[in-house]
Amino acid sequence: AKFVYDFTEGNKDLKDLLGGKGANLAEMTNLGLPVPPGFTITTDACKVYLDSGEEPAALRDEVSAHLDALESRMGKKLGQADDPLLVSVRSGAKFSMPGMMDTVLNIGLSDASVRGLAEQAGDERFAWDSYRRLIQMFGKTVLGVDGDLFEDALDRAKDAKKVTVDTELSADDLKKLVTAFKRIVEKEAGRDFPQDPREQMDLAIHAVFDSWNTDRAKLYRRQERIPHDLGTAVNVCSMVFGNLGPDSGTGVAFTRDPASGHQGVYGDYLQNAQGEDVVAGIRNTVPLAELESIDKKSYDRLMQIMETLENHYKDLCDIEFTIERGQLWMLQTRVGKRTAGAAFRIATQLVDQGLIDETEALQRVTGAQLAQLMFPRFDEHARTRPVGRGIAASPGAAVGKAVFDSYTAVKWSRSGEKVILVRRETNPDDLDGMIAAEGILTSRGGKTSHAAVVARGMGKTCVCGAEELEVDTKRRRMVVPGGHVVEEGDLISIDGSSGKVYLGETPVVPSPVVEYFEGRMHAGADDADELVEAVHRIMAFADRKRRLRVRANADNAEDALRARRFGAQGIGLCRTEHMFLGDRRELVERLILADTDTEREESLRALLPLQKQDFVELFEAMDGLPVTVRLLDPPLHEFLPDITELSVRVALAESRQESHENDLRLLQAVHRLHEQNPMLGLRGVRLGLVIPGLFTMQVRAIAEAAAERRAAKGDPRAEIMIPLVGTVQELEIVREEADQVIAEVQEATGTELRLAIGTMIELPRAALTAGQIAEAAEFFSFGTNDLTQTVWGFSRDDVEASFFTAYLEKGIFGVSPFETIDRDGVGSLVELASAAGRATRPDLKLGVCGEHGGDPESVHFFHEVGLDYVSCSPFRIPVARLEAGRAAT
Ligand code: ADP
Ligand code: MG
Ligand code: MG
Repeated sequence: AKFVYDFTEGNKDLKDLLGGKGANLAEMTNLGLPVPPGFTITTDACKVYLDSGEEPAALRDEVSAHLDALESRMGKKLGQADDPLLVSVRSGAKFSMPGMMDTVLNIGLSDASVRGLAEQAGDERFAWDSYRRLIQMFGKTVLGVDGDLFEDALDRAKDAKKVTVDTELSADDLKKLVTAFKRIVEKEAGRDFPQDPREQMDLAIHAVFDSWNTDRAKLYRRQERIPHDLGTAVNVCSMVFGNLGPDSGTGVAFTRDPASGHQGVYGDYLQNAQGEDVVAGIRNTVPLAELESIDKKSYDRLMQIMETLENHYKDLCDIEFTIERGQLWMLQTRVGKRTAGAAFRIATQLVDQGLIDETEALQRVTGAQLAQLMFPRFDEHARTRPVGRGIAASPGAAVGKAVFDSYTAVKWSRSGEKVILVRRETNPDDLDGMIAAEGILTSRGGKTSHAAVVARGMGKTCVCGAEELEVDTKRRRMVVPGGHVVEEGDLISIDGSSGKVYLGETPVVPSPVVEYFEGRMHAGADDADELVEAVHRIMAFADRKRRLRVRANADNAEDALRARRFGAQGIGLCRTEHMFLGDRRELVERLILADTDTEREESLRALLPLQKQDFVELFEAMDGLPVTVRLLDPPLHEFLPDITELSVRVALAESRQESHENDLRLLQAVHRLHEQNPMLGLRGVRLGLVIPGLFTMQVRAIAEAAAERRAAKGDPRAEIMIPLVGTVQELEIVREEADQVIAEVQEATGTELRLAIGTMIELPRAALTAGQIAEAAEFFSFGTNDLTQTVWGFSRDDVEASFFTAYLEKGIFGVSPFETIDRDGVGSLVELASAAGRATRPDLKLGVCGEHGGDPESVHFFHEVGLDYVSCSPFRIPVARLEAGRAAT
């Protein structure tokens, strides 16, 4: 295998092998853009190194060959004493992991070559500044020295000179700093700073490989669901210098605003600096637009390049660049992260520009982003006044208790508190705090700061650079303009869409996207929100493309109507147990306690009209669309009072010698119905078979309701669903009774009712015998919650609290199988049962009604397996529609 690629050899599609950075450096090189020459060591080499602890045997020679070629091209040798070639050694994995891994600049400098560099550049200060940066970065990332030690030494040097920024240090100051830095390395790392340039390079390469497995990198990958076995590539890139004086500098830019999607000039620029300085927020950057007046030629060239990149990648790009004495160099580009709203806007803008088509536009957005846009926002009309304002870095409305370090954020959130992480600025060590927090607030840094980039990636609310807030992390407090002090634990609210910061808890209102789905805001109207417009168009693309239908899980007319507004094409799951609660509980208790047939029949008779009325309303709300009604499913004890409560009541009544006849009967019933493992007990179809008249009462209510709707000229399309079937015999018995009741109702009302009868497939046995079950079922609905529970043998109500965290940490699964369908296990049963069912009954309707119906990844799976529909909670319907459309592209 080939382990090293010159930048001229790669291209943007080789991300697996060259990492994102390497692939895009190659792409830019081949587009003829000014990229400093270099080469990329593949992720394969990294994988070998991480697996075996050693470089692959061929690597050293390949690196030497590419280094030789680079040296002859540049006309100087790495670290050459009189005129050194310097390189950066840069990490770059397939997926960008901002700030997670290591990069070392200025490799090749040594006590000897620092003088050559000074000579060549005609700038001694620059050479020593570069050298101290090398020792600092190398010391920290390669030799593992605590970075604060260097920072402190730098601060002391500045204090000694009474200056505040490092550019004010002279060559002599920097020389002394180099000596101090070398001493720190010697003391802390137990070795000298290596003077041999090739040794520097090799050690840096290994350090980049190793940085793939740091704790923070692992945590980031878990959070972002990036596989752990990809490894990172290493880019060796000849250095260009932004720290060569005022006509030099470094910056970052976006081809569009990553928050709104608007085209324009977005970015930050820092004069006389090297790349790391921009992100670190060491000095204050200026807005990119100011570069026009600093260096018009480079600015114009940059604008031109950004246009080239957008047209080439057909997407928003972000860019790192450096200007060395008036010469512009491109150091990185990638398709940029963006907020959810910008993703929708950019996708439609690019369609309008003719750069992409509808199908591609669907690939540019995700259901998760749509879900984010449906979060509520702060009420702008609420009378609270903001106490500060920063940059709207990542949208959303977050309310929580202010905490000033990540440790506290994690600790408090574990105990159920909602927190806002408040920092001056964040760094990669803050990652777990950022994950734990509802939102992130910083007083320093711009749209490209660590906090902003990471928060956007996680879809977490973030306001950054709120400069008028004085954040004092040591004293755990923040002073807002006017002098009010926010202590740790005080409630604050931050608005990531406007950048505003409020004291206390600010009321929230629905998002415009939800207003749109609810029909309270219309696309095409004069005052329509730009975002709503974009969502409207993308949803139309998705609806045109998708094959899967989307139904709702809804139990009452109100939810059904809302689901319809959100685009539901029917109800996939109406749980009838909800109709047994509230003031009907007493009737249900009587049913359970019935000693005689008469008693039982009486209570069923009393329940019938109530159920029927529920169905009439539901069928009316969903007129013309299918409504799948599931007969009673949960174990009966769920309808009885809590056993402890009841025992206390009985005991109390006994001691007071009061009458407690009924409670006593209830208590006996609770004992009688008690099961060790109720989820595998008397529930679902088993109830129907054991309690005479229960299911037939429900079927009668459905049939009579349908007849009533027909009489009212409606179009009811009820489907009766039997839960927890494990064998066709169960279904046949229930079916026979049901058919008879339906026939009776037809006769009595003189209406022909076409009521489909089907079953849930939620037990492994049902899936395995689906071919037989389909003989008696007109449809299957996969109950993937119970199916997951029974296939894995996991109790859904217990596992999350007990061992799932450990399982997730150990990587046994990347995400809970209750959240995203387990394709290999549960999924293959779904596939098998679908095929067997359809073999028996070709027109068998297939759907899914577990939580998975609204989960993006699962929706793709159900599309692939060929189901007819997914059903999910009303709020998830737009997400399911979008993902069904994306799955079909
Ligand atoms: P990250 O992936 O964390 O952004 P990079 O590898 O891009 O790390 O490098 C960190 C900083 O150093 C960036 O600002 C980058 O532009 C700058 N940099 C990297 N290589 C060079 C180089 N050869 N010349 C000048 N600056 C560089
Ligand atoms: Mg970078
Ligand atoms: Mg179930």
